[in-house]
Amino acid sequence: MRKLLQGVSEFRARRRSAYRETFARLALGQSPDALLIACSDSRVAPNVFASTQPGDIFVIRNVGNLVSAPDQPPGASEAAGLEFALRRLEVADIIVCGHSSCGAMQALLASASDLPRVSAWLRPAAPVLARFRAGARLPGEWSDADQLSQLNVLAQLEQIRAYPEARERLSAGRLRLHGWWFDLAGTELRDYDPTLGAFVPLDEPRVQAILARMDADSAPGASVPACAAVGVRSEAAGLKHHQ
Ligand SMILES: [Zn+2]
Repeated sequence: MRKLLQGVSEFRARRRSAYRETFARLALGQSPDALLIACSDSRVAPNVFASTQPGDIFVIRNVGNLVSAPDQPPGASEAAGLEFALRRLEVADIIVCGHSSCGAMQALLASASDLPRVSAWLRPAAPVLARFRAGARLPGEWSDADQLSQLNVLAQLEQIRAYPEARERLSAGRLRLHGWWFDLAGTELRDYDPTLGAFVPLDEPRVQAILARMDADSAPGASVPACAAVGVRSEAAGLKHHQ
């Protein structure tokens, strides 16, 4: 808490004046670039790895970056956030961002009995765990928890597709889905490539290639819906089963 309070003082003393115009504009409304669904983990820092500023992203964070099923009883905060981002803010991109060394994925793997609320929260991820235990793997030398975390990102993207408002926008080419995964030790943000079936570094060539595809899809007369070019097409397409 000491660090936070010192940060507040530093902001007021040194940087507040530079942000006055930005926040005055944002006070009139928000039009974020994307919805980011990320883990609560303190090390997942989109303001650092994606250089974001206030107003850039609408954020849902929870333990394990989960999305509940649309037919669950009302009250799930991430379902409300998803609905608001799509129906009110009309975001055109949704990113699910997992990360390495995720405590939620480690708890899921270990069936941690000392974390009963965490275990209950993670119950919807049981099918991902079952797939992992049945041998589903993505390419790369990752630990079990990291493999599970990557599979979990893909499963949550599939869950988003179950929402009618997402499905409609995907089929109309008004929504793209992205799977990101932050490798902490490598300081490497990775993006799921559906053709390779793997999370690959989101380096400059890949960023430029994705931007070019987005531009082509949004050009007048483009025949390919935007969602087909960038997003994750199918979780099954990305999975490799090792015996
Ligand atoms: Zn996590």
